[in-house]
Amino acid sequence: MATAQVIDHTQRDPWEVALEQFDIAADKLHLDPNMRGILRECQRELIVHFPVRMQDGVVRVFTGYRVQHNVSRGPGKGGIRYHPSVTLHEVKALAMWMTWKCAVVGIPYGGAKGGVICDPKQMTQQQLETLTRRYTTEISLLIGPDRDIPAPDVNTNAQTMAWIMDTFSMHAGHTVPAVVTGKPLSIGGSEGRSEATARGAVYTIIEAAKAIGLDLDGARVVVQGYGNAGLFSAKLMSEIGAKVIAVSDTSGGVHDPKGLDLTKVEAFKRETGRVQGLPGVERVSNAELLELDCEILIPAAIENQIGAHNAPAIKARIVAEAANGPTSPEADRILHDRGVMVIPDILCNAGGVTVSYFEWVQDLQNLFWREATINARLKEVMVKSFNDVLDLAKKNKVDMRTAAYMLAVSRVADATLTRGIYP
Ligand code: NAD
Repeated sequence: MATAQVIDHTQRDPWEVALEQFDIAADKLHLDPNMRGILRECQRELIVHFPVRMQDGVVRVFTGYRVQHNVSRGPGKGGIRYHPSVTLHEVKALAMWMTWKCAVVGIPYGGAKGGVICDPKQMTQQQLETLTRRYTTEISLLIGPDRDIPAPDVNTNAQTMAWIMDTFSMHAGHTVPAVVTGKPLSIGGSEGRSEATARGAVYTIIEAAKAIGLDLDGARVVVQGYGNAGLFSAKLMSEIGAKVIAVSDTSGGVHDPKGLDLTKVEAFKRETGRVQGLPGVERVSNAELLELDCEILIPAAIENQIGAHNAPAIKARIVAEAANGPTSPEADRILHDRGVMVIPDILCNAGGVTVSYFEWVQDLQNLFWREATINARLKEVMVKSFNDVLDLAKKNKVDMRTAAYMLAVSRVADATLTRGIYP
């Protein structure tokens, strides 16, 4: 008999985790072995090495990736990450998660992702622009409005998307706004895109709270990560009456059991680049923050945060994965056994890609919608998708992640099978 083994969460390879999550759903679905073989691989993996002239005249060679996991349901879609720890395996996992995410919310895209190994905190705006423009040129082999449409992810933002759009357009000889989403409004971006990931997550939290009978008024919320997904999640949760008691970034976290003044946190972060150091509140580490007493925990930073080592100590009743891949399969089992509802990443943070899809549609039609229309359509998608997954989870007596995967994998398998194997 195998002995129980505690796996160190930091050692888990995201691609291994993605495959394990897929296999759990594939087993439940009794997926045909041929289809399993197709879906366990990424269709295209591009690795690029490119030089960038830094300000001191030194030329540095950077490595970047663009991966398309499966494009049976439509063009590839997925963000671009700038981080020192980007690896091909991480990008592959993120691309596969995008395939499932688009399928679970019924958006006509396949899954893709990109990344560059770099430390944006050590780079000037000029260097970031040069890096982005050259990386765009290198991955132009794969991207395009009908082929593969990037978006922001960790350490990239609307400005990065503007540089990508401009570079791609310069090569094409005409403006191509639909090549990226998450752009600034002035060049074809969409109303509501900046908050979309968080807004979508909040819609799923509202549905989850209804499902478990939790009153959100005054409910205590802890948010890990204070970037695009985290900052807006905190803000929107507080707008609906919940109490945000802790937030964090790479510098660590701040905690006030009475509730943080988010205006002060945001101003402090803007001034100093960090949340720790804010006067009048308690400091906590990122590890301590995850185990704080609260009703809702929103991981909104990076992968591999909740593993077998800390899942037993999580006190939240709902874990809402605004981040991609924060929870390991071992932790999933522990949380499920303890009755914690995990809203899985491919469902919880799908609001970002949903409004990206709206942006792409608006760009292609040159017809722009009002923010109220966007938020209403986003809500419709998120509420329906959450309840489709919840119904499937109840029917099959599985956790929410397995149910979301079952729904997504069956849709992608169906599209792949219907198209047939070429030639
Ligand atoms: P971001 O760069 O805007 O913010 C990331 C935040 O996480 C920063 O505050 C950073 O300091 C913090 N952080 C990084 N490492 C950390 C650590 N080890 N501990 C604590 N905090 C840490 O990135 P983002 O776009 O908000 O993305 C965050 C997560 O959300 C990622 O997993 C991303 O894939 C996911 N996501 C983002 C979007 C989107 O639209 N931006 C959509 C879907 C999913």
